[in-house]
Amino acid sequence: MVAGMLKRIGLVTLLSMTAAGCAVSPTGQKTLLLNSPAQMNAMGTQSFEQMKEKLSVEDDTRVNRYVQCVADAIVMEVPGEYGYAPQDWELVVFKDEAVNAFALPGGKIGVYTGMLKMTDNQHQLASVIGHEVSHVLAQHGNARMSQQMLTQLGMAAATIAMADRVDSKTQQAAILALGLGAQYGILLPYSRQHESEADTLGQALMAQAGFDPREATTLWQKMGQKGGATPPELLSTHPAPNTRIQQLNAQVEQYMPVYQQARASGRKPDCDRLKPR
Ligand SMILES: [Zn+2]
Repeated sequence: MVAGMLKRIGLVTLLSMTAAGCAVSPTGQKTLLLNSPAQMNAMGTQSFEQMKEKLSVEDDTRVNRYVQCVADAIVMEVPGEYGYAPQDWELVVFKDEAVNAFALPGGKIGVYTGMLKMTDNQHQLASVIGHEVSHVLAQHGNARMSQQMLTQLGMAAATIAMADRVDSKTQQAAILALGLGAQYGILLPYSRQHESEADTLGQALMAQAGFDPREATTLWQKMGQKGGATPPELLSTHPAPNTRIQQLNAQVEQYMPVYQQARASGRKPDCDRLKPR
């Protein structure tokens, strides 16, 4: 009786969730989004606050001004349809040797000082920030979490379906499994498809902002070569096979005119003058 009811509820929930969540990503990929933007923004903001407490925040004004200059130029180019205004973005530089950077829903950008050492100039830093911001715009965190929730839901439904008589313990386990999906997924590795999409959008953003799109290829090549015993931390959440570098390189031709157009119309970011030596 209870099992039957739970099974029905599970199925109905699954169907309504999938029906509600079908969306198309910025590059035209079908994607499942089960969380509302408001939920994702709240989770992103909460995670960011936790990171600010856990990690040490860079207080050197020069460093902050340099990274802010690059981030400002990028977020200025975010199309309004994504629901972010330039002033909605918050940037924090973390004092940490890890070669890392990230962006979270709610307009949060984190750049580690280790990444500043890896990037030679404003263009390379812009390619990282553009890439991270693009993950947020394309709602990759939401997609990743939704996929997990679906897996958890499927597992819970299977558990219930297999049990002849569902005792309260099994019910609890199933309900717990459903809840777990919501806790993870905010900083898990991205899929290849998400990486490719963030590369494309990111390279477009940087070119529109007046940063040289060729530098994106240079930076990812550099990161790939670093490898060895201490590969850049960024690569653990952003897998970078050679195919990505090839894709970035292939898109240079497409984005050079965008870059030249941006420079011609006065978008010439000059953040390197702020770069601490
Ligand atoms: Zn990525």
